[in-house]
Amino acid sequence: MNSRRDFLQKIAAASIVVPFFPKAVEASTEVYQGPLLRVAILGLGSYGTRVADAMQTCKKAKLVGAISGTPSKLTNWQSKYNIPEKNCYSYQNFDQVKNNPDIDAIYVITPNSLHKDFVIRAAKAGKQVICEKPMSVNAKDGQEMVDACKKANVKLLVGYRMHFEPNTLEIIRMRNAGDFGKIMFFQGLSGFTIGDPTQWRLNKQLAGGGAMMDIGVYSINGARYMIGEDPIWVTAEETKTDPVKFKEGVDETIQFQLGFPGGAVASCLSTYSMNNLDRFFLNGTKGFAELNPSTGYGPIKGRTNKGELNFPHVTHQTVQMDEMSDIILNGKQPVVPVDGSEGLKDLKIIDALYLAARTGKKVDIKL
Ligand code: NAD
Repeated sequence: MNSRRDFLQKIAAASIVVPFFPKAVEASTEVYQGPLLRVAILGLGSYGTRVADAMQTCKKAKLVGAISGTPSKLTNWQSKYNIPEKNCYSYQNFDQVKNNPDIDAIYVITPNSLHKDFVIRAAKAGKQVICEKPMSVNAKDGQEMVDACKKANVKLLVGYRMHFEPNTLEIIRMRNAGDFGKIMFFQGLSGFTIGDPTQWRLNKQLAGGGAMMDIGVYSINGARYMIGEDPIWVTAEETKTDPVKFKEGVDETIQFQLGFPGGAVASCLSTYSMNNLDRFFLNGTKGFAELNPSTGYGPIKGRTNKGELNFPHVTHQTVQMDEMSDIILNGKQPVVPVDGSEGLKDLKIIDALYLAARTGKKVDIKL
């Protein structure tokens, strides 16, 4: 079966090199003595398992709980990750987590359209919330999630793991330092060939759309953090070669453009019908930056007009969860925001892109 996970793993396998660990990384093995973010994962599927595995080497976050609709998965996770039974919940009884002082945060990793209700329930239980991308399936739902977390006085963060990736952060640093001059252009290519036609990613009710929701969101989000601005207009053109597999409301391929206030334009491709598409390219008046691959599980490869970026491979989800612990417990400000309003901006762009694709018209947006 071909899946997004297979795609991301293939990218990782294809580009595995013996990592070179410079001093700065070795130094990070110092024992951490600050507070730990104690996390329960909700949705124990393939990405939930990846996050759980990655959390085993976190220093500032710890996997302590699990929430699932499948009792056997809970038993399995208890022994695999040493999770006490008292920190395990079903979807029916998980509101009781409000009485559990040993869980600080809930990380929602279910199919997209289920994020909203689980996030709101977690917030009502008084827990900090982390939610996978896309934060929801439209801006209206996203706004409700942001409002509910604000009302409950808990943080809402989105699993944008690339916001902590070293090559990506170096390019952002160089851009801010003016190394590329005035930014004029971004290209984002995000796609893979999806397999099993019965999976939830091809079900509009669960996915909220098609490739745009699942993989195109990387180019949308990437355009914003690579250019460093929020777009003010969008245009989009959809093509469909297989209307049986990609039913009404499930986009197969969308080419789209985003216009930015400083004059830069982004040209992007989101697809479920082509492999080998995981590349960001940024061009300015004085230089360029490329990430290729740009958003897979790594190693990410970066280069600029000044040469290759040789940052060692990091497990994205381990770094993400340690950073999120610092954000939630210590109020750390990340270089690129990962809060609910950031997820909401991407949902507003997705809404505008679907409208543009349907109408063939340029759509103005205000984020
Ligand atoms: P998956 O199908 O492997 O897992 C989904 C989990 O949700 C399963 O455990 C399933 O049992 C559970 N679930 C609960 N209610 C369900 C329902 N009604 N129908 C189907 N499943 C239900 O999917 P996944 O690949 O783990 O994706 C989950 C979320 O994680 C998605 O929002 C996806 O976009 C996101 N994701 C993010 C990344 C990343 O790199 N940040 C990578 C993969 C997936």
